[in-house]
Amino acid sequence: MSVLVVGSVALDSVETPFGKADEVLGGSATMFASSACHFGPVQLVGVVGSDYPMHKLEPLKARGVDLAGLETAEGESFRWRARYRHDLNSAETLETRLGVFSRFRPQIPEAFRRTPFVFLANIDPRLQLDVLNQVEKPTLVAMDTMNFWIESRRPDLVELLGHVDLITLNDAEARQLTEQSNLVKAAKWIMARGPKHVVIKKGEHGAFLFSGDTIFFAPAFPLEDIFDPTGAGDSFAGGFIGWLAATGDLSEENLRRAVVYGSAMGSFAVEQFSNERTIALARPEIEQRVREFHRLVAFDAPLPQ
Ligand code: AMP
Repeated sequence: MSVLVVGSVALDSVETPFGKADEVLGGSATMFASSACHFGPVQLVGVVGSDYPMHKLEPLKARGVDLAGLETAEGESFRWRARYRHDLNSAETLETRLGVFSRFRPQIPEAFRRTPFVFLANIDPRLQLDVLNQVEKPTLVAMDTMNFWIESRRPDLVELLGHVDLITLNDAEARQLTEQSNLVKAAKWIMARGPKHVVIKKGEHGAFLFSGDTIFFAPAFPLEDIFDPTGAGDSFAGGFIGWLAATGDLSEENLRRAVVYGSAMGSFAVEQFSNERTIALARPEIEQRVREFHRLVAFDAPLPQ
């Protein structure tokens, strides 16, 4: 089944202790699509400015990502500048230039309106809400967000929670949104406002899936070299939602498998700048990493009675 993603298409300038990238392909929708496209068809809705180097999107097209919903508007593209220090778990945003995003109103093409899986990638929550008014009863609506929007558009975000089935966010964002320092309480706070499932990512410390009273945890893949964490969250979401859409199975067992596929895709994303690693992946590499995840956590000691 197909996935519709609406979010930012950006030019990122990122500095990590290991190097620097200037005006590279970025954005939540781009990173998500670069990951989800390995599992099935992806349709992308977003906006770029008249200054956008469109050739940067060619690898996505080559992977079959449908860009019919990508608008080009007069003005500057969305730009994000960030720095990671030695703790690669959190980005320090140096600059967010919304550019054409400040006047954007997503127009979901007619052919995308009945897409069963919808991912509202990190973007202004008022635009995320607007998308939901244009689509017809998706099987699953998932969303993401970040500190920028929690600070500036909290009431809209809380309203949006009432309209989604699932949310992915990192631990700092979960604490900031809910004002709960305990993550179990934070997940409950969120589920009480709408979503049936909450995924809280903890960077190199793995990810939790909360569904009602059940909790699942998957570790992050222990990589020796982490190059650039940008896009790890969106790549996680791409693997997670991509797997669910490909299997069409929303059972608890399959959601757990999806967390592992998400973690695998997040682990690839950090190995290179931008989407370089995720977009170039071959499916056997993904399966191999999932098998390595399995080995990482499998043990067969008899359980105490
Ligand atoms: P993550 O997967 O969480 O590392 O997300 C990184 C991507 O989010 C970058 O490629 C940025 O271009 C994009 N981004 C950063 N800030 C914002 C924002 N305020 N709204 C939408 N997208 C953003």
